[in-house]
Amino acid sequence: MEAVENTGEPVPSPTAATVFHFYSRLPPELKLKVWTAFYEDPLPGAHRFRLSILSSNYTRLAVRPDDDQKRDASAWRERRAIARVDKYAFDALLKLKRSATILYKDIAHNHPIRVWENGMTAMVNGKTDLLTFRCYYGYTKASVAWLSVRAHSELFANITQIAVDENNLGGGNGKNRPFECLCLARHAATRKFCLRTLCEFIRFFKDLKVFYRAFSLDDLGLANSLDLSTIPPQKLPRLYTAKGGAKQVRLDVFRRLQEIAQEKGLKQFHDRRGTYCEVQYKDALHFFGPKIGKQTEEISKTWTAVRANRDWANIEFKALVWANLQGVTVSGEEQPLRTAKPWY
Ligand SMILES: [Zn+2]
Repeated sequence: MEAVENTGEPVPSPTAATVFHFYSRLPPELKLKVWTAFYEDPLPGAHRFRLSILSSNYTRLAVRPDDDQKRDASAWRERRAIARVDKYAFDALLKLKRSATILYKDIAHNHPIRVWENGMTAMVNGKTDLLTFRCYYGYTKASVAWLSVRAHSELFANITQIAVDENNLGGGNGKNRPFECLCLARHAATRKFCLRTLCEFIRFFKDLKVFYRAFSLDDLGLANSLDLSTIPPQKLPRLYTAKGGAKQVRLDVFRRLQEIAQEKGLKQFHDRRGTYCEVQYKDALHFFGPKIGKQTEEISKTWTAVRANRDWANIEFKALVWANLQGVTVSGEEQPLRTAKPWY
């Protein structure tokens, strides 16, 4: 049951968390109950998909798995892998399938095609999970302005939480600028990444409740005024990294954020590589300075301004910090909680 190692908060005794000695002795109906409970109330997962323009139709996006099965860390792959433990796990997964949101690759020819790979569909729980995207399109080939809001509303129906990673917003030297400015009065400063274009993208998600701006822990500078005594977690066990140094300080900050998230009931989403942890403005300011709050507030304000007098949804805008937890351990000695190994 290797897959279980990614199912939750690390605990002081990793052996107890990853091995359930009595499972094999359970009667079949209890085995099925165990797995049904697992799939019905899983820890919120994070999934990432690639978006590109459909070559046969410039008004449609194609959704694909983020990478091949060795490198894609998405939670839907993890759940698939866990279903291979035994037939009870597989039956429980089939039960989940009935209520899950299944993403479609395209609806260009009036027949939906599932995102699949070797016969596997990408199942996401639209109510609890986080979806993130890597955009492989830009202004030169097509743009958000060409894309059909109506078609994508159907494609992404029932998805309630999405994030866009800060380093995928375009600009820089990358060729893809999915959020390039399309405004009449274009300003050089916002040309490569325009908040209004991002709002046009957000409109594709008709059932969206929360849009997150996601910041990678490694890209964030710590606040100059940060009092070091406020960094280590107070109750949760610390996490250790083999690299130590600056990385260790950031990991302590992240662990403290996870602790605050638990205390305040904030969201966390997991994939095979790491964890996204929701952070409130006040705490973001304390640990990282004003950047996170400022950028989250600016997209929120733009959405409010653009949706005025239209029927656009009332969405909350929040921030996530993402930490790569591969190779990280609780005591510094035992097996890492997450590894980069392929699932199968
Ligand atoms: Zn613009």
